[in-house]
Amino acid sequence: MAKGVAENEAQGHALGLLIEYYKTGDLQTWDDYNVAWTGATAGNIDYINSFIEVYNDPLGYRGSYESIIQINDFDMSQKMKVLSDNAQWFEDNSPLMAEHKKENVVGVTYKVVNVAGEAGDASPSTPIGVNLPNANWIRASVGSKSVSLGNIVNASNNAGTTGRLKEFVHDEEELLLEEEYGQLADKLHTALHEVIGHASGKLNPGVGETKETLKNYASTLEEGRADLVGLYYLYNPKLQELGLVTDWEKIGKTAYDGYIRNGLMTQLIRLNLGDNVEEAHMRNRQWVSAWAFEKGKADNVIEKVTRDGKTYFNINDYAKLHDLFGELLKETQRIKSEGDYKAVEALVEGYGVKVDQDIHANVLERNKQFSSAPYTGYVNPILVPETNDAGEITKVNVEYPESFVDQMLTYSKHYSFLPEVN
Ligand SMILES: [Zn+2]
Repeated sequence: MAKGVAENEAQGHALGLLIEYYKTGDLQTWDDYNVAWTGATAGNIDYINSFIEVYNDPLGYRGSYESIIQINDFDMSQKMKVLSDNAQWFEDNSPLMAEHKKENVVGVTYKVVNVAGEAGDASPSTPIGVNLPNANWIRASVGSKSVSLGNIVNASNNAGTTGRLKEFVHDEEELLLEEEYGQLADKLHTALHEVIGHASGKLNPGVGETKETLKNYASTLEEGRADLVGLYYLYNPKLQELGLVTDWEKIGKTAYDGYIRNGLMTQLIRLNLGDNVEEAHMRNRQWVSAWAFEKGKADNVIEKVTRDGKTYFNINDYAKLHDLFGELLKETQRIKSEGDYKAVEALVEGYGVKVDQDIHANVLERNKQFSSAPYTGYVNPILVPETNDAGEITKVNVEYPESFVDQMLTYSKHYSFLPEVN
């Protein structure tokens, strides 16, 4: 059925092989299918469907069934295209040393999709991104598909956070900005980080790849550098000139507030008191924030405020913070370009690993009131077709189940095909 309504021939061909595989269980057909699926990149709709991941089998052989139907995130794709088309402008106008800029920069291709429906092992607990196929020989010879599930990421970022947001913002303005511009600021930071950030800059002649020169600090340096490219351009009228935002200053302020709040406080929620920061992204968010806080101290750029026994960070001077981010961006690119291990070690160990114990205890205490479950379940949309007199679908309405419990009871009533006792 899906084969008959495929968007293009390549997609239809892959679906045909998948159907054949389901009928026969033949592993050669499975390989052929994966090659065809990987090559089918045109079109706006894509899917993951089969017995794929083996995480649930302790022996690592048996794949669990999963299904994801996804649609291109047209809004995000458009934003990333605008950035990619202007990649050279961003490179030319960045604060990097002239010898570290690329003469011909090409934006990185990054794909964001929205999930229309998930089933099997992908639901109700879902991945936030998918990178397939798993077979290394196909990845090496044909390639792979890597997508970020945009609406899932967005939902998980916003799950039950209003109370937490109110707890950690310094003032009413910060709260209102986040509520109005937070989502767009996040999207643009991701787009700038991926499309412009990872593409920017070049190594000095004769310097090896960062995994050789910067060793265990290579990924946190790279992630921090890409974040800094994003931060540098988020507070910039160019975004408005390109039609990506209607008020660049408010977007910039929102992004800076959120980054500092997370980097110096709220991400600590994920650690136990006494732990060091270990994960590469968490490290980079801390070293970027803590470095800017310290370097801006003399000018009171970011102020540490204590009110009723609670700690807050308030940004007093966004323009100066923008310049500090630019300065750190230039330095991180220098470290990368020269392969300066001593400098990256000092930066990461000095600002990104150790946690301020007083702030951490304070954050954990304030977070206690927001109990969050260790696992998250998602509700799937119910797609209801509208048809005309001829029975053709004219429109598809998106509805939602009353509640998560409601959804799960409906599933078990309609799709529970196995007997409870056998
Ligand atoms: Zn990255």
